[in-house]
Amino acid sequence: MSVAAQRRRTIRASSVARALAIIGDRWSLLILATAFQGVRRFDDWRRGLGVSTNVLSERLGRLVRSGCLARVPAHAGQRRQEYRLTPMGAAIYPTALMIWRFDRHWSRQRRLQPGALLHTRCGALAMPTLICAACRRPVDAREVRYEAGPGAGLDRMPPPRAQRRSTVRPDAGTALATLVGELVTILGDRWTPQVLAAFFVGAHRYEEIRRETRIATNLLADRLRLLTEHGLLEQRPGRELPHRHEYALTPKGMDAYPVILTLLKWGDRWLAGRAGPPLLLQHQPCGKALDPLVVCDCCGAELDPHEVTFRRPRSRLRPAPSP
Ligand SMILES: [Zn+2]
Ligand SMILES: [Zn+2]
Repeated sequence: MSVAAQRRRTIRASSVARALAIIGDRWSLLILATAFQGVRRFDDWRRGLGVSTNVLSERLGRLVRSGCLARVPAHAGQRRQEYRLTPMGAAIYPTALMIWRFDRHWSRQRRLQPGALLHTRCGALAMPTLICAACRRPVDAREVRYEAGPGAGLDRMPPPRAQRRSTVRPDAGTALATLVGELVTILGDRWTPQVLAAFFVGAHRYEEIRRETRIATNLLADRLRLLTEHGLLEQRPGRELPHRHEYALTPKGMDAYPVILTLLKWGDRWLAGRAGPPLLLQHQPCGKALDPLVVCDCCGAELDPHEVTFRRPRSRLRPAPSP
């Protein structure tokens, strides 16, 4: 194979890209999101998500092989099996919370999404918030600096998938209330979030985004159009060359940063291997390496799935008034 052909088969090493090679797929995201709400059995997913037996077995198998789920006997000594989140799978929880938060703010298609989060630890209807573990300030995308980390370099291009992006529909057939709403259209694809991530490290022009991600031009053009259609990006005249347009994040696009950041940290923690993270992040307000934490905006405690209950939309359940 020629050097040029080999280069075409690589993408820039990125923890976001590695995370998406595992969970950047509509069904995998929905399976994980519902696992956080307690779903463990094959039939509960099949009925609840309206997913075919073949697709469900394939996705569960892949999540087991990648280390996110473990297949275990439902009860000691029983043949019936169920799936449990491993520590690696459980560590996707902050991303699931940030996806829920994003869809709460921006999605018009949240018919089936739970409308409120009750933090049982403090009793408040809370909004999960991303803060810097060192200084405990909320993280703003414009206050994060990036530099190449020890694992910077190129990764082999992941193999193509049979499923096409165009078949993804946000809530078709879903009977379970899932944490993942409209954003699944963006995240349920391994390229779109990478294109979005390129904007947070400062890319604006087509060539910059292409250089940053190394994604094929036809895929890149398609994903830029999708992100623009969904209102996360907008076109504007170039700053240096006004006749050539460039892309910019809209407020909605900026607000996807916590999702990208939690994905990146998950990839750093579980998929970077011995080489270490490809990208180092510094939180400018405190000068420390950025370690993002998802906390309750009322009490400041880190959110744990065992201390969180989701409510259906329009439910009038509120925490009991204090005596
Ligand atoms: Zn900080
Ligand atoms: Zn709380």
